[in-house]
Amino acid sequence: MEESPPESTSHDELVISGTGAAPGIAMGTAYRYDASAPDRRRAPISPDEVDAEVDRLANAVQRAEQELETVRTLAPDALGADTDAIFEAQALMLRDEEVLRAIRQRIRARKEPAAAAVRTVLAAHRERLDDSDDAHLRTGADDLVELERRLLRALRRRAAAAHIDTQSVVVAQELTPTDLLRVRRQGPLGAVTARGGPTSHAAIVAKALGLPLLVGAGETLEAVSSGDRVVVDGTEGRLIAHPHPATVEDYRQRETEAPSPTEREEERAGRPPRTTDGHAVTLRVNVGLEAELDLLRPDPPGGIGLLRTELFLLADGDPHAVDEERQVEAYREVAEAAGEEGATIRLLDLGGDGRGPRHAAAEHEGSRSLGERGLRRLLNRPDEHLRPQLRALLRANRQGELRVLLPMVTDVTEVRRVRRILDEESARLAENGVPHDPTLPLGAMVEVPAMALQAPAFTEFVDFFSVGTNDLTQYVLAVDRAAGPVGARHDALHPAVLGLILRVVETGRMSGCPVEVCGEIAGDVQAVPVLLGLGVDTLSVSPQSLPTVRRVVRAIEYDAAKGLARDVLQEDDAPAVRRRARTWIDTHLPPAETAGSGGADVRGPDASDR
Ligand code: PEP
Ligand code: MG
Repeated sequence: MEESPPESTSHDELVISGTGAAPGIAMGTAYRYDASAPDRRRAPISPDEVDAEVDRLANAVQRAEQELETVRTLAPDALGADTDAIFEAQALMLRDEEVLRAIRQRIRARKEPAAAAVRTVLAAHRERLDDSDDAHLRTGADDLVELERRLLRALRRRAAAAHIDTQSVVVAQELTPTDLLRVRRQGPLGAVTARGGPTSHAAIVAKALGLPLLVGAGETLEAVSSGDRVVVDGTEGRLIAHPHPATVEDYRQRETEAPSPTEREEERAGRPPRTTDGHAVTLRVNVGLEAELDLLRPDPPGGIGLLRTELFLLADGDPHAVDEERQVEAYREVAEAAGEEGATIRLLDLGGDGRGPRHAAAEHEGSRSLGERGLRRLLNRPDEHLRPQLRALLRANRQGELRVLLPMVTDVTEVRRVRRILDEESARLAENGVPHDPTLPLGAMVEVPAMALQAPAFTEFVDFFSVGTNDLTQYVLAVDRAAGPVGARHDALHPAVLGLILRVVETGRMSGCPVEVCGEIAGDVQAVPVLLGLGVDTLSVSPQSLPTVRRVVRAIEYDAAKGLARDVLQEDDAPAVRRRARTWIDTHLPPAETAGSGGADVRGPDASDR
């Protein structure tokens, strides 16, 4: 970092604890990001700002158009004919040159900020429609209200992100995955949120972007203003505002001690790690964004264990990224990056908490974590995404290097339906002479408790299980994974969640159906010996967690880990499990093996810290 170190000011150093959600250290200037604050500026802009303001308007219009198209492409049937007509009406108005000219005119002639000009012009337009005798035109007035909101939102987002720069640490009440994808272009150093949990989709995106993230910093975060010097420690879960020079020096030291890329590559190029008593553990990686593929070279030894296609394909908000041809290309690229062990491609998990364009769809469909999400949504309208995605996978799978994973499975019936559709698509490709490999292994995510409880019934229809502890925990413990204060209770190390994982592992062992764990817990140092002890021998983790997890696995004695797993299952709650795991690690693992990047202690917090 080129910027001079944060200096001591008249402020006292302020340390705020939260939960480290994406590892790393960021030192820079705080920037308070609030994408929801309305832009109420009315004061005239200066003449030399006029062109930029007109450009801002054009970008916002384009963005609003893209958003409309995305919602319509991703969920055409879900919207129904009426809603679709509303979107069509909005899209037409966005292209109405008369309206756009009037807005531009106010910006140029009256030097009004774009948001104010949009409000004035659309209000006048609405009044005209309201006064009309034609009922159809009067309905159009409502569409205008919606369109105004959409345009103002698009303008606001750009405004909110505009002041972020490469030395900023984004400070926000909350960040959605969409916010993070938006601000990444400005290249901030890190981010802190008052709310949010470490397994939220925002945390997953931050890891994918290599952006240190601290979540759950609470209301004390209000004390941090734009312009304050801050240090964010996304590994240990701490924000330090107005840091003392000694603190800055300490963190600089840690930054320089972080393993070099070459060290990381050496670790990656190694063989699957073994425990001290010779038990082999397969480590795979989770991929969300295309940029992460570069982190995998040379080949990750265990391949890709989870490709979140709703992120990978749709992160840029381009609705055509789900076109069949584009998907074929994308999966070939993924297969190539995954190397010999291949890649597990999860079908689109649309409809849950906001993730890229799904967020846009969710605006119209309400919160979906208990609704039409994942496989339910795919099967309700199979022609929309399921069939094209399966066809693309069959076509991209030329040498058996791909596996398919189903998100949010609840019943065996759902898996049987997918199998049938997969067979139909494969037969159709064969009829048409399209080259493809029909031997696509089919796996099911274990995320819904009903599915975990019925695991034996699934073994006849699936080739493997992948336990998604992020969702499984939210559904078992009834705690929103993206929640604020209550989010601290979202911990996959709860004995009830571990009991379900054991059940699935035992089912897998009896039936010969492999079981892996791909939720964030697989990259949590305290959880690794517990999961191994439960009998899990494939973990899929973020590329950033891979080196640490590898070192921890190598330091564990497998037999001793089995004892730990037996003990933790008897505990009452997650904090008690963490206390026991932490004590076990202190006694069984040499400190050097649990040192994370920059020598930070990654053995995890004492349970009392959580
Ligand atoms: C999970 O739920 O644990 C999982 C891996 O899926 P996602 O985080 O994408 O919902
Ligand atoms: Mg999930």
